[in-house]
Parts: sequence; C-alpha cells; structure tokens
Amino acid sequence: MEAIINYFETIPTLHRSLILVGGLTLFWLLEGTLPLFNFKYKKWKHAVPNLFFTFTTIIVNFTLAFTLVATADWVKTNNFGIINWIPNLPLWAYALLGVMLLDFVGAYLAHYVEHKVKPLWMVHLVHHSDHSVDTTTANRHHPLESIIRFAFTLFGVFIVGAPIAIVFLYQSLSLVATQFGHANIKLPKKVDKALSYVFVSPDMHKVHHHYKLPYTDSNYGNIFSIWDRLFGTFMTLDRESIIYGVDTFPDEVANGKIGELLKQPFHKYRNPTTIKTQD
Ligand SMILES: [Zn+2]
Repeated sequence: MEAIINYFETIPTLHRSLILVGGLTLFWLLEGTLPLFNFKYKKWKHAVPNLFFTFTTIIVNFTLAFTLVATADWVKTNNFGIINWIPNLPLWAYALLGVMLLDFVGAYLAHYVEHKVKPLWMVHLVHHSDHSVDTTTANRHHPLESIIRFAFTLFGVFIVGAPIAIVFLYQSLSLVATQFGHANIKLPKKVDKALSYVFVSPDMHKVHHHYKLPYTDSNYGNIFSIWDRLFGTFMTLDRESIIYGVDTFPDEVANGKIGELLKQPFHKYRNPTTIKTQD
C-alpha cells in the first residue's frame, strides 16, 4: 500500500496521460469485440467532439491543478479534514476512505447538483446530448462543467483532508471508472449486476443516459455505486430499452457539432417529460 501511495504522490504527468489514452484505447478495442449496441455510426467522426471536450477538460484541470496541490498540502500540514480526524486509521483504510469520500463529493454530489440546479443542468446537458454513448463520452464535458466539477473536487480535498497522493490516486481511478461506465460494452448480465453492488457498472451508468426522466435523474455515481444505493437514487432499466440522448434537445446533427455544443448551455431551459417506470 505504501508503495502505491508513494507512486501516486509523485506520479509523472506522462503516466497520467498514459492512463487516459490507455483506458480510452482499451475500452475502444473492447467496444469492437463485445459491443452493447451496434451503432450505425462512424466511430472516429462521433469521437471528434468528445475528444475535443476531453481536451478542454484536461486544459481546465491542468490550469487549476496548483490549487489542488496547495489545498492538499494545507490539509496535510494542518491535520485538517475527515480522514485526519479519525485516529489510528491503518494506511489502507485511510486511502480507501479518502478515495470513497472524494468520489462522493467530487463526483456523486457534483453530478447530483448539476441535475437539480437548472443553469447547471444546461451546462451538463452537453454530456447527455450524445446519442451514441461510448467510452469517448466519458469526458464530454462543456468547459464550464469542467470548472464546476473541479470546484467540487477542490472542496472535497479540503473537507476530506486528502493528501496529494490520495488525490492523484482518486483522479486516476475516477478516470478509468468513467471510461468503463460509458464504454459501449456488454458484460454478462449477472456479472454486471454483481459488480453494481459496489461499483458503477456499464449497465448501471447507461440507465442514467436514458433520454427521459426519471431515469436521467438516477445513478449519479462514478466509481462506487454505494452512494446511489444509500441515497435512493439507484434505478434499473433493461439495457435493451435504453434510448440515449435528452428529450428536450433531440437534434442529433446539432448535438454532434462542437460549435453548437459550446453554445448549448446558453439556450433557454426546456421542460422535460417524465415517463412511467418499468416496475
Ligand atoms: Zn449526468
């Protein structure tokens, strides 16, 4: 455990980039072998806006990273934050709790708020207006959303008291988790279900990308599914019944254009419809 912590404390930028590219490549290849949906799409053409927004997300995170480092240093020096207030935690429990709580504040909570506050939902819409969800959808975030998510992560580091090693460990796991959750892959249903008791499985996250409420407002988790189960936002829907996109912004052509997507948050709010649930 100590070796892992030491590694993440000084993880080179190159290794972080390799995790991003490596994960994308791995799931991209798996999508060719066991796809969930046989999309009639040009995979590279579809990837262009998504990779553009992945790039802008990297820029935002890179530019603001110094605040994360400063906060992580500050909580360590001042022994501040939840994981530092619990006495005698073994290292593994310290790291696990740190990652879990960062996943709660930086991902679950951020995501929940983005769905409940209208102007933030308009920003988050860019992520949902993908009609062919695959591993490239993972970081399809409007630059404003990247800033919002960064702010939540920063707050998470502060309140959780995470040192930089745990922050980097969390960010790496979070990245692979989101690529996995969005990947257009079909695990055996039993495996997917078993996984979903602790982690966000591909089937679980796809429910969140159904085009109509109440499904869109469910399964907010990123690494751990426990937050959705704990707070009653966990939902299931047959993988065959899922339709991607958002009912209020159905224009598939516009939803594939970078320029249109950059402007999307500034449209007027449109009222969604809510459908009956399956069970
Ligand atoms: Zn969402």
